[in-house]
Amino acid sequence: MAKRRKIYEGKAKILYEGPEPGTIIQYFKDDATAFNNQKQAVLDGKGVLNNRISEFIMTQLNAVGLPTHFLRRLNMREQLVREVEIIPLEVICRNVAAGSMAKRLGMEEGAQLPRSIIEFCYKKDELGDPLVPEEYITAFNWASNQEIDDMVAMTLRVNDFLTGLFAGVGIKLIDFKVEYGRLYEGEMVRTVLADEISPDSCRLWDAATGEKMDKDRFRRDLGGVTEAYREVARRLGIFRDEQAGAEIVALETGGGK
Ligand code: UDP
Repeated sequence: MAKRRKIYEGKAKILYEGPEPGTIIQYFKDDATAFNNQKQAVLDGKGVLNNRISEFIMTQLNAVGLPTHFLRRLNMREQLVREVEIIPLEVICRNVAAGSMAKRLGMEEGAQLPRSIIEFCYKKDELGDPLVPEEYITAFNWASNQEIDDMVAMTLRVNDFLTGLFAGVGIKLIDFKVEYGRLYEGEMVRTVLADEISPDSCRLWDAATGEKMDKDRFRRDLGGVTEAYREVARRLGIFRDEQAGAEIVALETGGGK
């Protein structure tokens, strides 16, 4: 079998050329990084869990008419997605003060915000993905005004959807990050949700106890990172039960791939 072509390797994923033109394979690694690569670790089974959780969320978003790049999951660590041109922005949506916002404004983590707030960060690792105003985005041609409007509207829909989804399983959605891509279809270009949505890119707190169930467990050395991700997957009904989730992850991490 011919070796497939690697298109790009990022911190948590590898992109390979897909089987048909216009498709890409997203491979989810177990690698975790934080603070602009200063902190690194391999967390057994994280990639398997994020592949499943992102599949689950993207499938449901597609079903409510929110266009995404997701086509289908291929195996434990890979999913087939549409090839898009990534808009070089991280779109962050916040419901509750946490992380960099709490720090910047001297707010207590956990304070409810007066309304959902959207921020844009310029995707540039060397600069640590700085927060940028919309003026920069249009002046430097990173995205058009129409694309900014699309991203804001879509991100607010994603927020409403995810807030309800997680609330239904006893999880509070604090904030999250999404990325968008340009999907070229003949003469037309559409803005679609891309990348992944997983506990790597969301802040998720247990609604009853406030316990963190996301990447902050890694960032802040709280331990139990994959266990927390597995619990998110279990609550969403992705695995039949805790046992099945543990077995699937063990099988996959033990079995190479
Ligand atoms: N986030 C992300 N990738 C990044 C930066 C942030 O997925 O490169 C997510 C993060 O997990 C959180 C939200 O975006 O859910 C807001 O993150 P924040 O700006 O507070 O940054 P942090 O505190 O993680 O530096």
